[in-house]
Amino acid sequence: MPTLPELSELERLLELGRGHLEARVACEVSAGDKRFPVYQLTLGNPDPKLPAIGFFGGIHGLERIGTQVLLYFLRGLLARLEWDKSLHHLLQNVRLVFMPLINPGGMWQSTRCNPQGVDLMRNAPIEAADRVPFLLGGQRISPRLPWYRGAEGAEMEIEDQALCQTVQEELLSRSFSIAVDCHSGFGSRDRVWFPYAHTVKPIAHLADIFMLEKLFQQIYPNNKYLFEPQSLQYRTHGDVWDYLYLQAQQDESKTFLPLTLEMGSWLWVKKNPRQLFSRQGIFNPSVEHRLHRVLRGHTVWLDFLMRAACSYDNWQVKEPDRGLLQERAVARWYRP
Ligand SMILES: [Zn+2]
Repeated sequence: MPTLPELSELERLLELGRGHLEARVACEVSAGDKRFPVYQLTLGNPDPKLPAIGFFGGIHGLERIGTQVLLYFLRGLLARLEWDKSLHHLLQNVRLVFMPLINPGGMWQSTRCNPQGVDLMRNAPIEAADRVPFLLGGQRISPRLPWYRGAEGAEMEIEDQALCQTVQEELLSRSFSIAVDCHSGFGSRDRVWFPYAHTVKPIAHLADIFMLEKLFQQIYPNNKYLFEPQSLQYRTHGDVWDYLYLQAQQDESKTFLPLTLEMGSWLWVKKNPRQLFSRQGIFNPSVEHRLHRVLRGHTVWLDFLMRAACSYDNWQVKEPDRGLLQERAVARWYRP
């Protein structure tokens, strides 16, 4: 096996979590003459009546910090399972799903795209309803250019197929689920993005996002996260979370909240401008103490989401108040 440090750590965690974790290889990818497994891990109660949360990362091969944050969080959970009764109790009431390294081929080759040159975040069969930025919004000109969507009419790339299958089976099958997908590289602040990316219209579950933000704000009043719809920054074709959210919409009784943690890296670069000259540099913190601060910091957010998913029936607002909350949320993000 080739050595990809994140994959080695993931496999160490599989060993460490024996007895608690179920693991399967969702697909295998080739990069040159190397083969890599894409793992899906689950823990907690499999009862389909219970809520679930999925943690996803490594969709873009250059954004290693997303995978590292998830592995750090998972290692902490596994260590606590040795003695923490409250965590065992929590896991009796929620299902956890992890896909921390969705694009190992891209990570191995130090590219954003997968080994076929496709950007996995532009590859879903969904067209933007509004104007998208040139190239960045997704393009079919060439896999040599960034943000390549894949050929017209082609199936989704196997990494995206594996991701979609995991989400469909483990999350969309339930009454309530959250997905959090970890990225880095945009802006100087940490952002929590939610759909849509393909249109400027608000999602039907904006009220739930509004509540999540409020709950998090109550516990961590000075947190640095900026919550916003992705469409506020730029629109894209082929966003896989839009695609899955729209699928979930086919059953109105269900709630599926896909969130993207977009770690703002420009500040890391500002504090250490030498990072500009390395390929990984602008997407990942390179100074040891900064790396550890980033890893620790986001654990708080992931832990919060896990608890929020578990106890959703205690905070999700129902009708008749729900309509009003949705209106407030629309005013918050769409009519500033
Ligand atoms: Zn990304």
